[in-house]
Amino acid sequence: MSWFDCVELGPPIEVFQLTRQFTEDDFPQKVNLGVGAYRTDEGKPWVLPVVRTAEKALANDETLNKEYLPVLGLETFSAASSRMLLGADSAAIAENRAFGVQTLSGTGALRVGAEFLARHLDKTVFYFSKPTWENHRLVFLNAGFKEAREYRYWHPESRALDIEGLLEDLRNAPEGAVVILHACAHNPTGCDPSHEQWAQIADVVKQKRLFPFFDSAYQGFASGDLDKDAWAVRFFVERGFEIFCAQSYAKNFGLYNERTGNLTVVSSNLANVAAAKSQLTLTIRGMYSNPPSHGARIVAHVLNNKELFEQWRGNIKTMSSRIIEMRKRLREALEALGTPGSWNHITDQIGMFSYTGLNEAQSLHMVQKHHVYMLKSGRISMCGLTPTNVGYVAQSIHETLT
Ligand code: PMP
Repeated sequence: MSWFDCVELGPPIEVFQLTRQFTEDDFPQKVNLGVGAYRTDEGKPWVLPVVRTAEKALANDETLNKEYLPVLGLETFSAASSRMLLGADSAAIAENRAFGVQTLSGTGALRVGAEFLARHLDKTVFYFSKPTWENHRLVFLNAGFKEAREYRYWHPESRALDIEGLLEDLRNAPEGAVVILHACAHNPTGCDPSHEQWAQIADVVKQKRLFPFFDSAYQGFASGDLDKDAWAVRFFVERGFEIFCAQSYAKNFGLYNERTGNLTVVSSNLANVAAAKSQLTLTIRGMYSNPPSHGARIVAHVLNNKELFEQWRGNIKTMSSRIIEMRKRLREALEALGTPGSWNHITDQIGMFSYTGLNEAQSLHMVQKHHVYMLKSGRISMCGLTPTNVGYVAQSIHETLT
């Protein structure tokens, strides 16, 4: 008899299970298009050169020690993060209505923000895009939300954004619901609203008094330009919305396992900032007490140094350009093979991921027959493609669809 006899086996997490299967597979031409992590042209993980530079400087800095950080984290990091998101000329920052809180990567920012909203604003209903990053539901429900609802996003026939469906679903939302919006480089579809469509979304958010919770896991990855990728968030803030935004440095700094993130909070009233900060402090204190320092120090070191900041922008360009190049090559290869269907969506989509349009059976066939590991939804990570394997992947898609 064990206390744990009553515990049921939970479902596996698809993306991690896929990586495990990939690792165990000894097929020489296997390709991993599952996990969203950058790879070089040689298919290797990449520590950004600017990160190496910052780490060396930090290692040599005798003034640094291993004391606890404050509960809300390293201020030089969180302030620089919010500035990077909202822009150096942000009125919200100048008026001290915006601030950042260091969190355990993007997931931690979502979790801390969601728990605050559930506990202090009595929020119960949240909306996420259909489809979305598979963790949004779990993070918000674990944070105390009661009801997960979807808004339409992907239109399978046109392989593009279903803006009418999206607007209709948000129009039918209960007043005050929280809506998760991907700031840029939508995961998994790689398909973002245009500026005009964002304006339409903002109108509905205002009309229904929804609370916009942005998720910015890919700033710099969509266009290669940090400012362009922050357009939607800045647009909402300039229109006077109060927002939360979860920022992750997993992808754009390659700091996946350092768990480095920030929750940017924008309030319309300076008078509410102290109370909000005090409650966020208690939320974090009761969750993990205070955050780790290494990743935050790296990011702060780079963001607060003009020269290193420029280097970092160059590193982002390297990553985003390689992804764009792989999109081009995959599309060209499929078109050259005469693979059925149109393939312009591969190059129209942006960011790390592409929604190929392959259905579940076809995606499984790709894994089982061709050893090309991809999610059941048909999502592929463009980072897993290299000049060496793109031809093989195209051949495999071709065989699967013919
Ligand atoms: N949001 C989205 C949309 C993501 O794709 C990810 C990473 N896959 C995250 C948040 C959070 O990632 P992390 O916690 O590693 O920063």
